[in-house]
Amino acid sequence: MTPRSLLIRDIHTLVVMDEANTVLHGAYVFAQDGRIVRVGSGRPEPVKADTVIHAPHAVAIPGLVNTHHHLYQTLTRAYPPAANAGLFDWLRCLYPIWARLDEEAVHVAALAGMAELLFSGCTTTADHHYVFPRGRGDLIGAQIEAARRIGMRFHPTRGSMSVGRSHGGLPPDSVVQREERILRDCERLITEHHDPAPGSMVRIALAPCSPFSVSPHLMRATAELGRQRGVRLHTHLAETRDEETYCLERFGKRPLDLLDEAGWLGDRTWLAHGIFFNRREIARLGRAGTGIAHCPTSNMRLGSGCAPVLALERAGCPVGLGVDGSASNDSSHMLAEARQALLLQRLQHGAAAVTVMDALRRATAGGARCLGRDDIGSLEPGKRADIALFDLRALGYSGAGDAVAALLLCAPANADSVIVEGRLVVSGGALQTVSLESILRRHRRAATKLREAL
Ligand SMILES: [Zn+2]
Repeated sequence: MTPRSLLIRDIHTLVVMDEANTVLHGAYVFAQDGRIVRVGSGRPEPVKADTVIHAPHAVAIPGLVNTHHHLYQTLTRAYPPAANAGLFDWLRCLYPIWARLDEEAVHVAALAGMAELLFSGCTTTADHHYVFPRGRGDLIGAQIEAARRIGMRFHPTRGSMSVGRSHGGLPPDSVVQREERILRDCERLITEHHDPAPGSMVRIALAPCSPFSVSPHLMRATAELGRQRGVRLHTHLAETRDEETYCLERFGKRPLDLLDEAGWLGDRTWLAHGIFFNRREIARLGRAGTGIAHCPTSNMRLGSGCAPVLALERAGCPVGLGVDGSASNDSSHMLAEARQALLLQRLQHGAAAVTVMDALRRATAGGARCLGRDDIGSLEPGKRADIALFDLRALGYSGAGDAVAALLLCAPANADSVIVEGRLVVSGGALQTVSLESILRRHRRAATKLREAL
């Protein structure tokens, strides 16, 4: 399936995303077997390849990396009773609908969310799936199959909820699982799907949902399993004041102390949101090298707060971006998320403190670090050929003086071409691997079925 060799030549502007912030003009990229061999300016060498793309009107960037998502939520976007609610009420209102998910719904939701991500220039996505209604089949397997079909690099995380309402948790009892069962399924998924090799298209991580839906025991057991099997850990943390209050009232501890006691504070962990950390906690996270998936749109949509992104980075945390949602965004557009992150941090710190390149770095190299990958996030020899090309002739870019700044300052556009592992997945703005029409037909049907079942 992967073309043996790929040459993109005469590229108007190319962002390498290296330490020196190199931007090339009249550039080329040559890749073989999914791996970048050469990048430079001027006449390419060699001049031939199995696939050749001329891109004199394009700006090329490393494929964007999405570090936090719930693909199944594309089925419940803009759900009326949740449209104006904060996190806890939003969740209470949506749990009963999500309790009806099945393999078909999860598969087609993944296809729709991944198509939207690919169109926005995103080539790698994480997903956090934590709703496993009884007897509905292999839901993570259904997502992995969607990623394989559409051609996207995928980091599914096996989420979990084990404390239902009857035991003081937030979710209804019908969507929580027994802890032994959760851990058994985590083991199975790692054995069946986790590929640690360079260029891997699927890596599993373990992801108990949040402090208000799992027990400290499950957190500890998950960390231990992650260590034994060499996979990463992910969870929601410090997203709202409500969560902080819940942890203090129920456990007498702040969320980060709970996490630390469960053996989670380390560089194999990345956390979604990370808004409500105090100065000492930020220093602890930085020393540990724990990553943060910053999700600005979701945080604004739910009125949660604003993550201390610059302080976290200064402390030493890798910071990536997440579209989150898609019922709390309600979009899977990674370029729009990078723009949102830029604007929100500028509102906090002023324009000069947050450059366009800073924002693009979080959306690419920063995200790659959160996912523990050193083979994606930049366009350098030896990295995987994950590349997004945006057409500067589009109306929204007309009149733009700087091609890179245009990507983040102008209205977020869709990519013209997207390459994953050297393979053209989007070309001329169209998906090459799966029929978009059929995804939309099935997605609408699944969304209607979920809502009507209530
Ligand atoms: Zn989330």
